[in-house]
Amino acid sequence: MSREMNNQNPVSRQHGSVDQEQFLTILSREDAIARFTAALFPRALPGEPRRLTDAIGCGLASDIVAPLDVPPFDRSNVDGFAVRSADLASAVESAAVRLRLNDEVIACGTAPTRPVLSGTATPIATGGPLPRGADAVVMVEHTQPSGNRAIEVRRAASPGQFVSYAGSDIARGEALLRAGTVIGSREVGMLAACGIAEVSVVRKPRVAVLSTGDELVQPGETLRPAAIYDTNGAIVTAAINENGGEAAFLGAVADDEAALEAAMRRALADSDMLVLSGGTSKGAGDVSHRIIARLGQPGIIAHGVALKPGKPLCLAVCDGKPVVILPGFPTSAMFTFHDMIVPVLRRMAGLPPRSDAKVTAKVPVRIASELGRTEFVMVSLVEGTDGLIAYPSGKGSGAITSFAQADGFLKVDALADQMPAGTEAEVTLFTPHVRVPDLVIVGSHCTGLDLVTAPLARAGLLVRSIAVGSLGGLAAAKRGECDLAPIHLFDEKTETYNEPFLAEGLELVPGWRRMQGIVFRKGDRRFDGLDAQGAVRAALADSACIMVNRNQGAGTRILIDRLLDGARPDGYWNQPKSHNAVAAAVAQHRADWGMTIAPVAHAVDLGFIPLAEEHYDFALVTARKQRPAVQAFFDALSSDESRAALTKAGFRPA
Ligand code: AMP
Ligand code: MG
Repeated sequence: MSREMNNQNPVSRQHGSVDQEQFLTILSREDAIARFTAALFPRALPGEPRRLTDAIGCGLASDIVAPLDVPPFDRSNVDGFAVRSADLASAVESAAVRLRLNDEVIACGTAPTRPVLSGTATPIATGGPLPRGADAVVMVEHTQPSGNRAIEVRRAASPGQFVSYAGSDIARGEALLRAGTVIGSREVGMLAACGIAEVSVVRKPRVAVLSTGDELVQPGETLRPAAIYDTNGAIVTAAINENGGEAAFLGAVADDEAALEAAMRRALADSDMLVLSGGTSKGAGDVSHRIIARLGQPGIIAHGVALKPGKPLCLAVCDGKPVVILPGFPTSAMFTFHDMIVPVLRRMAGLPPRSDAKVTAKVPVRIASELGRTEFVMVSLVEGTDGLIAYPSGKGSGAITSFAQADGFLKVDALADQMPAGTEAEVTLFTPHVRVPDLVIVGSHCTGLDLVTAPLARAGLLVRSIAVGSLGGLAAAKRGECDLAPIHLFDEKTETYNEPFLAEGLELVPGWRRMQGIVFRKGDRRFDGLDAQGAVRAALADSACIMVNRNQGAGTRILIDRLLDGARPDGYWNQPKSHNAVAAAVAQHRADWGMTIAPVAHAVDLGFIPLAEEHYDFALVTARKQRPAVQAFFDALSSDESRAALTKAGFRPA
């Protein structure tokens, strides 16, 4: 594409042939890993000395051989008397053996000075070194004093009784810890027992982290219009530190080739690895991959990997240092980082591969997948009647909350175009253990729900709320996969909410009412002082007025369609799926009016004309009614505290 054409047609600049050539050779996940690994390893892993306390989490650079025996001497395990076992061979309950006491007491840390001769015993404390001649210890409880200077013993002692021999714990010359062992509290304990204060660990790879994008603002700063907070910078920095690296976050760089090249060169100069995010897809400002080609040999190894999410991943090696460009979307960045980069980072840090905990769980719904790409699907785990159930909880690769709320992920093979409902899938956990939630709520989310479940969380109950919409929740409840399904479904025939949608085994628990109405920006004269019908008439009368609709199937949509009575004004086809999206569109001047609920309108300070109440109720799985967490939920729902909180937030408790 010529420069002239670029100037005339910015759209084709972004989507035209120049960009096509970047992804001409998409590698499979396995090929990309193999090539990246081959370009980086084997490599020397430089060691550095560290004091034990600073070595936690590091990998040992070399084997450690025990420099001494532990314990260093034969040691008593109990408080009692050091004896010769042969002296006690004849001791029984009816015939005690009398032993004279030697004139010393062996306390912990006291070296004995007198031998134990036949017919004598020496008082010894737990941890005291066995004196010459003694070969066993008798517990003080198993003796009686016999005058001042002797004891009587009424049971025999086997040789070695209550003695830990020198080197029985750790033997001098034994391989104590192997190179590559991760130092934790237990390893520190072994090293300290051997008197070792400092070990040689693999030097943590220094990893520079850069975010790219004109739109990025750092957390803590004020968000300007059309900007977003830099999420990847924080995620990647944390994930590097969690996996043996030493991350240095260098901020976000604008999509400017010269500035980015300078930043990348500076970053590489002081580090062992560089991780960028963003700029790997095909926007006009996406330049980092071009810069890499100039930074060192061999340069780009893979640009485009058959992963979902994560296709735009770019892997490079510049003069021995890995340079990685992660996709911009945070979820894609995280998956590709964990799947492709963490193994390399850990190897550079001298750490073994991660051993993430895995569980098997049943997938309740069919998961569609793209043929030819290894697909990662985040899941939330809930307890089913026979085993764990893994709920896909992804909200798309642009979402971040799905990551925080998920328990783990499953992988759909590149050769599969779906995972059928009912599949027993292997789930890799994000945490070492599954914590199955006490209360599972699947359905439509409402901020009021957070108010009601707050006391449960305070009481230590784990509440899992999975937002899949009213119909999805109802289906889950019918399958018995949740305790409660929050729904707000309007039945046009009976003009009622929720009740007509229940199936056998479900019962309705009244929740609260949410006032639906027309939203507009305060001060918009077209709507001031009108009722809902009047407002819609006013909107239809002004051809410059743009609406925002709701998705087909939403109860609110039915109300809108009734008010419009067949009209299709500008904006009708903009059909977001949530009350919040409607309010955001109006607040940001992308639309002038729409229909949402009062609390959402008030939260962004919009004008609101009330129309009709929506019923937000709960479909309860009757079989789960007696569960303690369900009862706790009912208590919370009917409590004065919740009712007051709901009312304050603009809801009307039923
Ligand atoms: P890009 O690959 O730069 O085209 O980015 C793809 C998408 O990811 C865009 O929506 C970016 O705004 C978003 N994105 C890029 N970098 C970040 C970041 N550091 N934090 C959050 N979102 C990002
Ligand atoms: Mg970008």
